[in-house]
Amino acid sequence: MDHGPIERHARAGIFLQGAGALRSRKAGETHLHGSRSTRFIDYVIADPFVLPMDQQAFYSEKIIHLPHCYQPNDTKRLISNITPARAGWGLPEQGFVFCSFNNADKITPEFFGIWMRLLTAIPGAVLWLLDANDLVKDNLRGGASARGVDPNRLVFAPKLPSPEHLARQRLADLFLDTLPYNAHTTASDALWAGLPILTCARDTFAGRVAGSLLHAAGLPELVADSPAAYESMALRLAREPALLQGLRRKLLGNRLAAPLFDIAQYTRHYEAALTQMWETCANGYDPAGFAVPPSLPGRPVPTAATPIEKIAYRACPLCGSRDIPAVLGADCSKHPVCRQALPPVMNWHECRDCGHVFTDGYFDANAASIVFAKTQQNQTVGHDMERQRPVSARIVARVARRMPEGRWLDVGFGNGSLLFTAEEWGFTPAGLDLREANVRALKQLGYEAHCLPIEELDYNARYSVIGMADVLEHMPFPKTGLAGAHWLLRPDGVLFLSMPNMDNMVWRLLHANGVNPHWGEIEH
Ligand SMILES: [Zn+2]
Repeated sequence: MDHGPIERHARAGIFLQGAGALRSRKAGETHLHGSRSTRFIDYVIADPFVLPMDQQAFYSEKIIHLPHCYQPNDTKRLISNITPARAGWGLPEQGFVFCSFNNADKITPEFFGIWMRLLTAIPGAVLWLLDANDLVKDNLRGGASARGVDPNRLVFAPKLPSPEHLARQRLADLFLDTLPYNAHTTASDALWAGLPILTCARDTFAGRVAGSLLHAAGLPELVADSPAAYESMALRLAREPALLQGLRRKLLGNRLAAPLFDIAQYTRHYEAALTQMWETCANGYDPAGFAVPPSLPGRPVPTAATPIEKIAYRACPLCGSRDIPAVLGADCSKHPVCRQALPPVMNWHECRDCGHVFTDGYFDANAASIVFAKTQQNQTVGHDMERQRPVSARIVARVARRMPEGRWLDVGFGNGSLLFTAEEWGFTPAGLDLREANVRALKQLGYEAHCLPIEELDYNARYSVIGMADVLEHMPFPKTGLAGAHWLLRPDGVLFLSMPNMDNMVWRLLHANGVNPHWGEIEH
C-alpha cells in the first residue's frame, strides 16, 4: 500500500522491484494527481465523484470506488475551545469574511480575479489568507492594487497549531476554494470546523477533491461547475445571510452524521475494497476495477437467488451532465428472458444535454458475471443465422461503401450474425463479448475473440471497422468504451454505432401495444 506522493523521499522503488502480490495506492496523495502510468501499481483507490470510472482509459491503475469519499477523515482532530474575537486577527467585526487557507501556490490569476471582484461587489468584505511569507504577501497585495482593490482588505493569518487554527476558522463566513487545484486536507479542516466551502469542480482529480468532500458531507449545493457559477454563488451567499446561515447549520448537523466524518464506516468500506482486491488476486484473476457498495451487511456474495442491484448513475455516463430525467420505467417481470435475480423494473433516463439514453445504473463485476453467465437463445452463436443475414447485410453494405476491407471488430457480437456476414463480404472478423460461451464458440471456429471490456484490448490501431450496435446504452461507462474504440481503430477506420431511439415509430407502436421494446435490454 503506497499512501505517499511521488516526491523526494518516496519509496516507489520497492514496488518497481515487484514486492507484494498486489499493489495499490490511495489517490490524491501525489502532486501529479493523475495516473502514475506505471505497470507496477495495480489499483488506485478513489470515489465516484473524484475519479469517475469514465476516466479509466487515462489510468494504468484499475480504479476502485469507495462509495462516499476516498479521503479518510480523522474525527479526533481537536478544536480549541477558545474562539478568539475577530479583532484579534485584524478582521472586521461586521464585514463579510471570505477566507482561503489554501497554499499560495494554488492561487491562480483567474480565481484571484474572481475574489477581487467579490471584494469590489461586497463593501466592507475582506479576504483572509494564510501568511506564507513576505514575498507572497507583497505579490498578492500588488495583485489586489492592480485590480483596483485596497490591499488592506487582504488579511493574513500567521501559522498556528492545529487546534487553534481550526477554532479561528469559525470567524470566517465562507471558504473560497481554488482551481485547478482544490483544497484537500485544508477543505477537510474547514468542514470539520464548521466553515462552509464553496468549490468549483473541473475534470481532473485535483480539481474534484473538495467536491468529493462536500458530497460526502451532504452539501453538494456548494459545488459549482464553472468559475462563473462559483462567482455568482459566492455573491449570493455573501448577500443572503439566511441562505448561508442555513448551509452552516446543515453542515454542523451533518458533521457527526454524514459519511464524510463516519470513520468507522469508512474503515469497513476500505476493508471491503482490500478484501475484493485480495480475492481477485488469490483466485488468479487480473486486477479489475470495481465499486464498493454503500451498504455492507456482511457483504453476501450475490448468487442467482439473491436480487442483483444496480449501482445508480448520478450523472450522464456519456457527458457527465446532471440533467438526466427518468423517461420511463419498464416492467420486465413477464418477459421471457427475465430471471428471478434480475431487477423486475427497468428505468430509463435521457440526458437533456447530449441526448444519451441509458438505464438507471450498472452492475458491479460480481452481478455482471451472474447476468452474463446464462446466454439467452437469441444471443447464442449461430442462432437463426439465415434470417439474421439480410439485416446484417444492410449494415455491412453501408459500412463497406466507406471501408471496403480489413479487420472488423464487433463489440457484443451475440449470435455472431454481423461477423459472419462481414466475412462473406471479405472482412476479417473479430469478436468481443462478455458471454464466455460465445467467445469460446467463436474461438473454436478459429476466429479472434475476446472476453473483456473493449478498453482493455491492446491499443494499436488494428481494426478497420468497429461495430458497437446497441451496446453503448448498457455499457457501464460508454465514454471509456468509446475512448477504447478510438485507440483500436485505424485513423481512417469506421466506427458503426446504433442506439435506442424512443422517438421512432417502431418503438412507439410496440410501446403503445404493450409489447415493451425495452425488455430486450433486460440482460444489461
Ligand atoms: Zn449526456
